[in-house]
Amino acid sequence: MITSTTDPQPADFADVRATNLAVVLRSVREHAPCSRADIAASTGLNKATVSSLVADLIDRRLVRETGLTENRVGRPATMLVLDGSPYAAIGVEINVDYVTAVAVDLSGERLLSWRRSFPGATTTAAQAVATVAAIVRRVVNRMAKEERQVLGLAVGVPGLVGADGTVRIAPNLGWRDADLCGDLTKALRDPGFPVQVDNDANLAALAEHRFGPLAGTANLVYLTGEIGVGAGIVLDGRLRRGGQGYGGEIGHIQLDPLGAECRCGRLGCLEAVAGIGAVLEHAALSPAEVEIELDEVVRLARAADSRTLSTLATVGHNLGKGVAMIANLLNPEVVILGGYYVPLAPWLLPAVEAELRGRTIAPDAGGCQVVASTLGYGAAALGGAARVLDSVDSGRLPRIS
Ligand SMILES: [Zn+2]
Repeated sequence: MITSTTDPQPADFADVRATNLAVVLRSVREHAPCSRADIAASTGLNKATVSSLVADLIDRRLVRETGLTENRVGRPATMLVLDGSPYAAIGVEINVDYVTAVAVDLSGERLLSWRRSFPGATTTAAQAVATVAAIVRRVVNRMAKEERQVLGLAVGVPGLVGADGTVRIAPNLGWRDADLCGDLTKALRDPGFPVQVDNDANLAALAEHRFGPLAGTANLVYLTGEIGVGAGIVLDGRLRRGGQGYGGEIGHIQLDPLGAECRCGRLGCLEAVAGIGAVLEHAALSPAEVEIELDEVVRLARAADSRTLSTLATVGHNLGKGVAMIANLLNPEVVILGGYYVPLAPWLLPAVEAELRGRTIAPDAGGCQVVASTLGYGAAALGGAARVLDSVDSGRLPRIS
């Protein structure tokens, strides 16, 4: 008897349909409000197929009719928009000094944003799993009360994260080989939605690419300005992780062979000479309570305190050397400074710009601009939610409940 393990029919039909549903969903996300005819025109699918796919998306409550019509030649058309109301995507950011949780609906509307302090440097991965699981359960309960189905959870961590969600090394948290994704899934007791773990800079870059003021910029680099400094890299419209997912570790490029010791054990890494720890150390402030100390740095800078201004200029020049490396290597349209760099940006940016222009071989720094993020401290958490929405957009659609 010949058995075929490759008989493709049913699976392929389902795959094609799922792919086309995702194509139509993305089209609505990009063009809403839009008509079925608009979708047919923008996707190349025929009108009958689009009507059938739209009906399916309406059944799944991913898309709804607004009843609005546009004045145009011919019959007025029923317009379609995303229907966010029955769903939620959850993002969490674990950092050295805080945990942030964010939930958004399908259209990206923020449903909640929670932040609590967290002693990351002295917390084991197992303790972090318990903390994050408790927060996530509260978010899930809140979403259940609003009768929303959770589409997924993505957690950002400042460290190297393998494709399976294992945190290989997180120097500032002191973790090695922590199966965060597996342990968190267990702690949530099979939550009924996918759990993912990713590098915090990667997620923050996704947040900027989907929700930021420069959303849609094809070539964008996000620099985390936390105790650690990492880069999230979007090139040609896609997040780039590298071979094993460990790209973007600009924080550990050596800027000064005689520089301060980094948490990774090496000398003069970018994050040791241009991270927030360097700002606080130069200013003789303790990095224990970063936010409180940072307020003090901002106050002193506003008062034109010479030591503070000199510290910020030094750190800004070091950071600018790193930004120039990014500009020479990747030629992004924008480098976005996040985290604790945001309140310090007025004093850091002039030095960063000077180094960028002085060290980039392309004229006008290859068109690269440097801006401070407007997404706030929870950018990576928001990016976690963006990653969940990305999976929906690429075809992982919720089941009809
Ligand atoms: Zn280092």
